[in-house]
Amino acid sequence: MITNHHAHTRFSDGIGEPYEYVKQALQQGVSAYAFSDHAPIPLDGIGSMPVSILEEYSSTIAGLQEEFSGRIQLYKSLEVDYLPGLMSVESPHIVAAELDFTVGAVHYVDRLPDGTPWSFQRPEPVFGEGIRTIFGNDARKMVERYYGLVREMVTMHPPHIVAHLDRIKKRNVRQTYWDEGADWYIRAVEETLEAIQGAGCILEVNTRGLYLGEWEDTYPSAWIVERAHRRGIRLQVNSDAHRSEHITGGFARAYRILQDAGAEAVWIYNGENFTAIPLPGWD
Ligand SMILES: [Zn+2]
Ligand SMILES: [Zn+2]
Repeated sequence: MITNHHAHTRFSDGIGEPYEYVKQALQQGVSAYAFSDHAPIPLDGIGSMPVSILEEYSSTIAGLQEEFSGRIQLYKSLEVDYLPGLMSVESPHIVAAELDFTVGAVHYVDRLPDGTPWSFQRPEPVFGEGIRTIFGNDARKMVERYYGLVREMVTMHPPHIVAHLDRIKKRNVRQTYWDEGADWYIRAVEETLEAIQGAGCILEVNTRGLYLGEWEDTYPSAWIVERAHRRGIRLQVNSDAHRSEHITGGFARAYRILQDAGAEAVWIYNGENFTAIPLPGWD
């Protein structure tokens, strides 16, 4: 049984109609699929989808659930940013959207001098500008702040699923900014896993880096998946597709990583809560 709980459509920064994703999900053998476009961020100039579009988002998904009833389980979610004091899964517009579950993520770490939230996913020169102006050119400070925000999110406003835990490594492929084997880095990850374990959130193993060729590894890396599993944190595999052809991209590798970590199950939403199913075989 193949599932995907995290993907985007044209409602946020994905390409294609929700309908195309359902067709592709069926073709790729997916039996449960969730829409989780980026939730509106209540801040001017950040370019998220407007709150007013959530109604159309909901009715589109409801229409597809009816049309494809009995063929595939379809769920309504949003990838909700955690921005301290501004937004979390408990924000009124998120609660009002009546989601099946929430996917929580930190994409912004503090703000640039002009007040804009700084996305660590942005290419240079914005990436370096953030490290320089917000963190005094100290990448370690930036990374520790990122994990601190993830801990704050899961402790204070826990989502059901934590998205791409070590996404902060996106621009660190050649370990240009920091050494991922450093004690301080492992400590930051461990403290965050401890918080996720305490909050009872599900941790996704996100394959986006694999099929885009960003990384040879998942978000989070295999060594983190293993530590998470050892702590008893529930895991699931998601593609974070922004194009329908990527819905199961990288899944074979991700399932192998889970297997190597000793995991025998993934946790999937069943319409009421999350249940364990055996790790799918995948060739
Ligand atoms: Zn994300
Ligand atoms: Zn996403």
